[in-house]
Amino acid sequence: MKYDYIIAGSGCAGLSLLYKILQTPSLQNKSILVIDKDQKKSNDRTWCFWEKNPGPFESIVYAKWNKLEFLSTDFKKELDLESYTYKMIQGIDFYNFVINYAKKFKNVSFVQESINSIDNIDKKAVLKTTKNRYTANYIFNSTNLFNPKINEQNSLLQHFKGWLIKTEKPVFNPEIGRLMDFRVSQENGATFMYVLPTSTTEALVEYTLFSPRVLDKEVYTLELKKYIKEELEIDNYTLIHQESGVIPMSLEKFEQNPKLNVINIGTSGGYTKASSGYTFQFIQKNIIEIINNLVEGNNIIQQTSFKNKYYQWSDRTLIDVLLSNKLTGKDVFTKMFQKVPIEKILAFLGNESSFLEDFKVFTSFPVKPFLTSGIKQL
Ligand SMILES: Cc1cc2nc3c(=O)[nH]c(=O)nc-3n(C[C@H](O)[C@H](O)[C@H](O)COP(=O)(O)OP(=O)(O)OC[C@H]3O[C@@H](n4cnc5c(N)ncnc54)[C@H](O)[C@@H]3O)c2cc1C
Repeated sequence: MKYDYIIAGSGCAGLSLLYKILQTPSLQNKSILVIDKDQKKSNDRTWCFWEKNPGPFESIVYAKWNKLEFLSTDFKKELDLESYTYKMIQGIDFYNFVINYAKKFKNVSFVQESINSIDNIDKKAVLKTTKNRYTANYIFNSTNLFNPKINEQNSLLQHFKGWLIKTEKPVFNPEIGRLMDFRVSQENGATFMYVLPTSTTEALVEYTLFSPRVLDKEVYTLELKKYIKEELEIDNYTLIHQESGVIPMSLEKFEQNPKLNVINIGTSGGYTKASSGYTFQFIQKNIIEIINNLVEGNNIIQQTSFKNKYYQWSDRTLIDVLLSNKLTGKDVFTKMFQKVPIEKILAFLGNESSFLEDFKVFTSFPVKPFLTSGIKQL
């Protein structure tokens, strides 16, 4: 059978696209096949992101903050987000929400198979799994089949381990999230703790690094235990959930249209912001563009606008500064948070700022390292 759309990979991008298609009257009756090797039944990640208005997944937002704090060795700042809200969604809530919604539609089928290849054969988008061959007008791919090779010369990795902990007594202030605490050892690269209290007795504590290599597994655990005891001053707690991940922060180009009628979405389409690892909000913006093209019957050839090319250049510049050890991550982020208001930082990191606003962010950094890396990345 030939489908209108195949969604290859039902993670964040695949399910965000599926949900939006099913919410769009002119598209909701299209025949859709969703393929993933996984059943999406585990709470494998937590997504945090910021936005100004309620988003498509507002009803499953698990926690939100209007204040964040930034800490470094000799600098601490409490930040009022003003027009932005920082939000958290749990992976399992997201998977259940979209999959349950889609089950009401007879035109949507789910299969659990491992995808081996995606191609365009005789002007048809063709997907092969270990068991079957499927064709469609469009295949939206979020598997890593077309991803570039990542190595220590072209990429940093954002690697982390997070613990959701519960305490017996109320110790957290759920009004304020700790976005970055750089007071931890920097011997393995740019390293910070991220603490998001979801209630007075519960918080996600995440040990995060931007560096070329991942660490031995036990190091993340040791550092989390140390920070919870020494900085948060908590002795008694229960570990209720844990997650870990490695997100590419790469100078390499992620292809958007690897084959005719094959559209890469999510991290595979380059929608991970290379300088920060944030992806959720960029996926949502890309999905809106795809839906608009589908509704208007346009061929989907994802265009990188001048503004987006500029954002990619500024991301690559920051990565180059860090990869070439011109400045430490701690220095870069401390200078930025010292000099730039948080609303402007969030707009900059969310690709929502004007050139003039970005210029102000750039002038908060030491000129020479950014100038040489910026020229190199042109
Ligand atoms: C633990 C963790 C926490 C994160 N936290 C944040 C955050 O707070 N904020 C943020 O913005 N970003 C975050 N990210 C980064 C990013 O948002 C996520 O990785 C996001 O899930 C990317 O969406 P995606 O659809 O591109 O990939 P995924 O969600 O990983 O989906 C890809 C899907 O493809 C399937 N698949 C892959 N290969 C095959 C194959 N060969 N055959 C069949 N199926 C296949 C996988 O099973 C998966 O379901 C986090 C990442 C991780 C790992």
